[in-house]
Amino acid sequence: MASRKRRRKPAPQPELRCQCGEELKRFRPFCPRCGRAHIWGDTAHETNAECGHCGWVVSDYSWYCPWCGEDIHEADVSSDRPLKAPAGFRFSAKCDAGCGGGVQYPMPHCPWCGAEQEWPDDEYEGTCPHCSRGVDDWMDHCPWCGEDATGQDLIPRALRRVRRLLLVSRIRPWGFRILLRPGVSGVDPKYPKIVEIDNDWVGKRNRHEIPWPMLVGLTCHELGHSFLYHHWRWTRDWQFVEAFGEVDKAYRVSDAGWVDFQRRRVTTTHPNFVTAYAATHPQEDFAETFRFYVTRRGRMRELLAEMGQKRKGVVVYQKFLELHRYLRGLR
Ligand SMILES: [Zn+2]
Ligand SMILES: [Zn+2]
Ligand SMILES: [Zn+2]
Ligand SMILES: [Zn+2]
Ligand SMILES: [Zn+2]
Repeated sequence: MASRKRRRKPAPQPELRCQCGEELKRFRPFCPRCGRAHIWGDTAHETNAECGHCGWVVSDYSWYCPWCGEDIHEADVSSDRPLKAPAGFRFSAKCDAGCGGGVQYPMPHCPWCGAEQEWPDDEYEGTCPHCSRGVDDWMDHCPWCGEDATGQDLIPRALRRVRRLLLVSRIRPWGFRILLRPGVSGVDPKYPKIVEIDNDWVGKRNRHEIPWPMLVGLTCHELGHSFLYHHWRWTRDWQFVEAFGEVDKAYRVSDAGWVDFQRRRVTTTHPNFVTAYAATHPQEDFAETFRFYVTRRGRMRELLAEMGQKRKGVVVYQKFLELHRYLRGLR
């Protein structure tokens, strides 16, 4: 303790890199690249105190470890009242429980009363499907819980099936990244390779309750959006325009209603669209055509026969033929 007062030189900054090379943000328990667990101790000697339970840096004034929540109170050392920000820590917000003390982002516990804290994680692009805290699209591991930040581990059956369907349809993956996220299914034209699938179909359900065929269909549909954004120049070809019409890129896909549409028994026939949902917007038209093409393994003879049985109009044939023509050109 005495050495703290004598120290003159500024303490060296702790190494903020993981062994895998990834740059780390302070106080995130896991590396987002490799998933390795990290202990944020007092390497820079800012407080000269570490929690005896978890090893993370703490203040001697605190009553609780703000990281693991353990009681670290010591008579004559701990503060007799909640502080705003003891040396070595910043003030980010007041304690959620209203004890009057200050907490630093992203402490899970209040250092003064031990109460659990909630943080909005505003700086992140999305939400971890495992722990609901903030994650970015590129992250393989959640920096908070260490689990698969993409959520792909929650839908292995659907993803295996989709990859297999693309392969037999002879569509080479274009670098898309499938992310399970709460409350959204869709693709943003600004990030054409990011395909978001609504985690609500998976999250709280048992494995046998997950509607796998629906998830496969939904994923193929969203991949259709991603594929079109990725090959946007094609939408200006006269052949494309003749089949699908003029499409506007400003359209931000959000397919919350897709599943309802699939469940509804459609009585009105849409002779010019492959499904009723396809009639809602030209980009949905393409995504649905793409989904049918992929789930029917790109077998044109069978596809066109199926359209005949469903009494579809000539333009629907044209859509499949144009997609088929374009895909052949990519090979
Ligand atoms: Zn790492
Ligand atoms: Zn601790
Ligand atoms: Zn508190
Ligand atoms: Zn997480
Ligand atoms: Zn859609």
